[in-house]
Amino acid sequence: MPVVPDPLPPARTAPPADGWVDSHVHLLPPRLAARVREVFDAHLPGLLAYSTDPQAALDDLTAAGIGQIWVLPYAHAPGVADWLVPATAEHLAELRAERHDLELILAGTLHPDDDDPLGLLDRALDDYGARALKLHCAVGSFAADDPRLEPVWQRCAERQLPVVIHAGKHDSGVAAPADVAELDRVATRHPEVPLIVAHAGHPAVAATLELVHRHPGVHADLTPVVTRTPTLGDEDLRRFADRLLFGSDTPNTGHRVGQLVDFLTSRDLPDEVTTAILGGTARRLLAAVT
Ligand SMILES: [Zn+2]
Repeated sequence: MPVVPDPLPPARTAPPADGWVDSHVHLLPPRLAARVREVFDAHLPGLLAYSTDPQAALDDLTAAGIGQIWVLPYAHAPGVADWLVPATAEHLAELRAERHDLELILAGTLHPDDDDPLGLLDRALDDYGARALKLHCAVGSFAADDPRLEPVWQRCAERQLPVVIHAGKHDSGVAAPADVAELDRVATRHPEVPLIVAHAGHPAVAATLELVHRHPGVHADLTPVVTRTPTLGDEDLRRFADRLLFGSDTPNTGHRVGQLVDFLTSRDLPDEVTTAILGGTARRLLAAVT
């Protein structure tokens, strides 16, 4: 009888020398991080995988092979971005002084009710070195196609600034197809803007992928909503790999980053698909920013 060897473990795609990219992280200034955590603890006790200690989160990110993270502060109300972006930039400067194993990318944020949304964006870019923008329609209760954002979209097109946008009207974080339709109008008016639909529009993933299919500038990140990962099949991942980005929501996530990386690398996907999703797409977008 022939000896049948034990099956080999599935081949895991190893990270490149500069590591994977997590394009959806919320390392907030410590006092704000504590306040956000109180809200999570009140509504979702015991579900999160991380404390608010940034060093513990960064240790876990690097252990998972991550070499670059995009730090996304978000303005839930007018007047917030004015202090939040400088405070986050200062927090990142402190972390960079201690961590040379990880590249920390700052995103700006703003709210359409701000007095001067474009001025806030320009300061984030030119004074604080932001290289992305985060808009959170859900917690900020605004429409993605709010006309007051027009000059912001124009600047994002000029600078090729990636915009991570969380569609929806509910602070539970879920999006509906109607919310995705707002993004459709933005993408139609501003096809040059690199838009990244946060959480792949969970649970409106099908509507989001339809948007990605129709607009070359639209992308989606695979960030879970606490414990629920957006449901994309292997075929979706293969088809849209150069438009998909990895994200974890650390530290406000129900899964450890390593589990999320394994979830992708253990799937039966070509290496080029895995490497695009785990960093290639994000690095390509960032390289285009002017
Ligand atoms: Zn998030």
